[in-house]
Amino acid sequence: MGHSNTSPSGAERFFECPGSVTAQAAIDLIEPSNPAALEGIAIHELAAKCMKENIDPYECIGETIEVKDNYDEIHEYTVNDDFAFAVRMYRNTILGILAEHNLDQKVLQIETEFKLPEVDKKAGGTTDCTFLASDTLYVFDLKGGRGIIVDPAENRQCMYYGLRPYLDTKMFVKRIIIGIIQPRAKEGEFIKMWETTPKRMSAFVMDLKRAINLTRVKKPDFHAGKWCQFCKAQGTCVSVQNKAIMHAKEVLPDIEPVFPIITELTAVQIGKALPALEAIKGIIDTLQGFAFTLASKGEDIPNYTLTRGGKNRAYKDEQAVIDAFYTELGDDMYGECKLRTPAQMEKLLKKGKARLNDYVFKPEGDLKLVPTKEAKDFISRKVEDVFKNVKLD
Ligand code: SF4
Repeated sequence: MGHSNTSPSGAERFFECPGSVTAQAAIDLIEPSNPAALEGIAIHELAAKCMKENIDPYECIGETIEVKDNYDEIHEYTVNDDFAFAVRMYRNTILGILAEHNLDQKVLQIETEFKLPEVDKKAGGTTDCTFLASDTLYVFDLKGGRGIIVDPAENRQCMYYGLRPYLDTKMFVKRIIIGIIQPRAKEGEFIKMWETTPKRMSAFVMDLKRAINLTRVKKPDFHAGKWCQFCKAQGTCVSVQNKAIMHAKEVLPDIEPVFPIITELTAVQIGKALPALEAIKGIIDTLQGFAFTLASKGEDIPNYTLTRGGKNRAYKDEQAVIDAFYTELGDDMYGECKLRTPAQMEKLLKKGKARLNDYVFKPEGDLKLVPTKEAKDFISRKVEDVFKNVKLD
């Protein structure tokens, strides 16, 4: 199924900003894939395989998962301890609930594409995992992200996922439990459940129908907010620009900033604008640094709070952990064994380092746009075009 512009992953955005659907559709722009999103797809693929084939993800360590980005380029991810840990938490949570109900994995609906013609002909998406256990419908969503902590309560994306199984089984369902499993979350609980009722799900059918209809009106409303973060229309959106101007004027009351419509700029204008933006980025970095310094000295910065970032839990004394658990867990308590980098291996080899050369290559780096004077290897599609028919003797 192609990615619908009213899919569950965009629900928060189009509920809050109905205009974003047409605004995004009007943009002829293939955004580079976010590396965190690609990694999330790889984790989902591993999860789907482990659930469907009933295997522990630690058995897949070292296997390669291929993920296509928005430009159809393939990225390879090797299943490591981090991936396996995340998927094991997801799988064990679901298997635990099945065991409580004496059910086996056959009841699971894994990575299931669905449509909701009762709501709209374009409504639909793909659920991670849903199942019915006695009178309870479970809807699970696996989140591979670390930074944005997701809460299942009244979560429109997850309620949207739950609608198809709910509508199909509603005569048996008395409770709906929506679970978000976010094993790599920097803070908060990794496993969160929220219980809702058939009444709320039936009302959500109407909420979703209304929200999709509002995206189709002639002059839909635009509302900027935190949902703009993943909106492709940010570069052309007047609401976002007005909000930015409003904030800019608080600092620079005399300037009249005018934001261009990014997709209407020419290549020449872009070439001139980028260095100016670097300067603005510099000002922003300095402002943030200065704000941090003031806050560290105890000054109150309105709307901001000094807080500590999340950290993963750590052992107080590793040897004490080994002593306490080795008899029970054996070598399972250690993570993956990793080959050292070529530079580290050369240090170890001391003599005959050249023996390593046959096993080493330098992969091509990812393409990035940098100021030409900073580029080590200048790549220009136009230059390649100019020389493509030139024969070199
Ligand atoms: S950037 Fe924000 S306000 Fe603008 S269309 Fe997208 S979601 Fe709406």
